Amino acid sequence: MQVDASLCQQCGACIAVCSKNAIVYHRNPINGLLKIDIDQDKCVRCGLCKKICPANKHTKLNDIRDFCKQKEYYIGHNTDDAIRKKASSGGVARTIIIEGLKSGFFDGVYTLKKTDKYPFVEGHFYTANEIPDYDDIPKSIYHSVPLNLNMRTIQRCERILIVGTTCQLMALHQYIKGKCKEVYSLCIFCKQQKSFESTKFIAKIAGVKINSFQDLKHFSYRGNGWPGYCSFNGKSVPWGIAASMPFGKKLWTVPGCNICGNPFGTDVDITVMDPWCIENKSGTGNNLIIVHTEKGRILLKQTPNLYVQKKTLAQVELALMYTDIIKKNNLIPYFRNECDTRTTLYKKGRAVERQRKRLRRWLTILPGMPLIVYRILNRLIKDKR
Ligand SMILES: Cc1cc2nc3c(=O)[nH]c(=O)nc-3n(C[C@H](O)[C@H](O)[C@H](O)COP(=O)(O)OP(=O)(O)OC[C@H]3O[C@@H](n4cnc5c(N)ncnc54)[C@H](O)[C@@H]3O)c2cc1C
Repeated sequence: MQVDASLCQQCGACIAVCSKNAIVYHRNPINGLLKIDIDQDKCVRCGLCKKICPANKHTKLNDIRDFCKQKEYYIGHNTDDAIRKKASSGGVARTIIIEGLKSGFFDGVYTLKKTDKYPFVEGHFYTANEIPDYDDIPKSIYHSVPLNLNMRTIQRCERILIVGTTCQLMALHQYIKGKCKEVYSLCIFCKQQKSFESTKFIAKIAGVKINSFQDLKHFSYRGNGWPGYCSFNGKSVPWGIAASMPFGKKLWTVPGCNICGNPFGTDVDITVMDPWCIENKSGTGNNLIIVHTEKGRILLKQTPNLYVQKKTLAQVELALMYTDIIKKNNLIPYFRNECDTRTTLYKKGRAVERQRKRLRRWLTILPGMPLIVYRILNRLIKDKR
């Protein structure tokens, strides 16, 4: 068996499930991504890694409008302004995690915990005996994070909450099947995770030179209001400006993110995201919450310290970014190497890749420039998709 690095979503599940420790990996010091290989001498060809790998499952959204019609929508946040201001968006994710454990609704939660080594977070199984504080739970980490590396620490429990992005949750769901009586899943809406090169670029915009993981002393991609700021070693830049090039133009994206078509999560109970375009440009913080199931509805109802207000699809539609998601879905066959080289789709895919490569090269070479230049560049450069 071989690993195709161009499809890897960096969740770490294959490494965690291998009982023979046959999956070896090391972190690339330039882009921070895990390079995963199989030690053919140790491998017993059981196929567990292949089965759990989210890249082997199709997440294509065939009709996003129809998909979105079937959901319930809320705008919400933690009722404490200080917590809300410090969170990624409105603090709904950490409120559900912490208050769910405090109230005894969950006896286990698997999510991220902060660490002091790159990627500065790891997967952690919290229980009633170890309830995190609000500051223990990381805000959005946009460089890639192998959440599932530690999933074997998950203990049997009655009711567990798992928190992660689409790919991470797909693998987690499969892993805990039968291990916990009731599973609730909260999806962190995600269209792309980033490599460390994206972090270096955003730090450059903020006026901080980052060459290696060690140079990153204190960082935060979000927080301090909404949409908030990105800050590195004491210097910050508004999130809107920081995100426009790497996120808007899909630069330094984890290769496997190109084949994920459903940022809302598959078979999840609830999704939390930013209320882009539908909330005031700056504020204390809010989430757009998508409820997929009855369990999701229960979660919102039973969580203390959570304020939510129901919205109609029409009221939130702008934030759901249909066009971007449709364009991404259209290119999936190209990134999966499933389209004929004579097709228009193939030509489009090649053009997109070339544009991204060129932009990455230029933005890496150019010295840090005033923020207004990045704004102008972002407007001028049209996405080839
Ligand atoms: C890689 C990534 C890309 C995203 N892209 C978009 C986007 O394009 N549009 C949009 O509207 N929203 C996006 N989001 C979601 C947004 O940034 C917020 O995470 C979301 O609104 C939840 O906010 P909150 O205040 O409820 O989170 P908080 O209460 O601050 O809690 C954050 C939660 O996210 C978890 N978390 C943080 N980083 C990761 C990670 N890398 N992998 C797994 N879990 C993580 C933490 O463990 C914690 O449970 C993205 C998030 C991530 C991590």
